[in-house]
Amino acid sequence: MELACLDLEGVLIPEIWINFAEKTGIEELKATTRDIPDYDVLMKQRLRILDEHNLGYHEIQEVIATLSPLDGAVEFVDWLRERFQVIILSDTFYEFSQPLMRQLGFPTLLCHRLEIDENGRVVDYLLRQPDPKRQSVKAFHSLKYRVIAAGDSYNDTSMLSEADRGILFKAPQNVIDEFPQFPAVHSYEALKKEFIAASDRDLSL
Ligand SMILES: [Mg+2]
Repeated sequence: MELACLDLEGVLIPEIWINFAEKTGIEELKATTRDIPDYDVLMKQRLRILDEHNLGYHEIQEVIATLSPLDGAVEFVDWLRERFQVIILSDTFYEFSQPLMRQLGFPTLLCHRLEIDENGRVVDYLLRQPDPKRQSVKAFHSLKYRVIAAGDSYNDTSMLSEADRGILFKAPQNVIDEFPQFPAVHSYEALKKEFIAASDRDLSL
């Protein structure tokens, strides 16, 4: 039995925080782990900015509902789900990703969550576990699934290494250069071919 594990942001949907910052015009929200390497510091800053702009759960959902999956992503997920059990492994938050997951037909998503109070204010964030993508692949292996994984960035490389086959999709050149052991493709058509090649079944049937 085979599972396809996909990263979400950069693979199926745009980078949520960056696009959220653009939609709301809040420059400060464009900071990423490249600007603030400590994720905890970065997330605390993001929650503070949301507070300052009175952006709670409902406002966030409304803004994010105006974003769309990447061109071709919906068709790709449909294609993949006919051939594999598809699991999305992401470092996003359920509350953030919900409007985009709706557009993707709600494939199974394992990620983190935000703590929201009764007024819709985002009070904290809860990471599910350390190195969650790798741990998820390990868990699927313990369930006797073979895993083919695809992702676009550094936070995917432990998942790609743990998987039986790992594929880089739309990865920046520095990641491709640093991880030459993974095939790197840039279109959904090429990604389909990699999944077919990585499968231990004959998917041409
Ligand atoms: Mg990504």
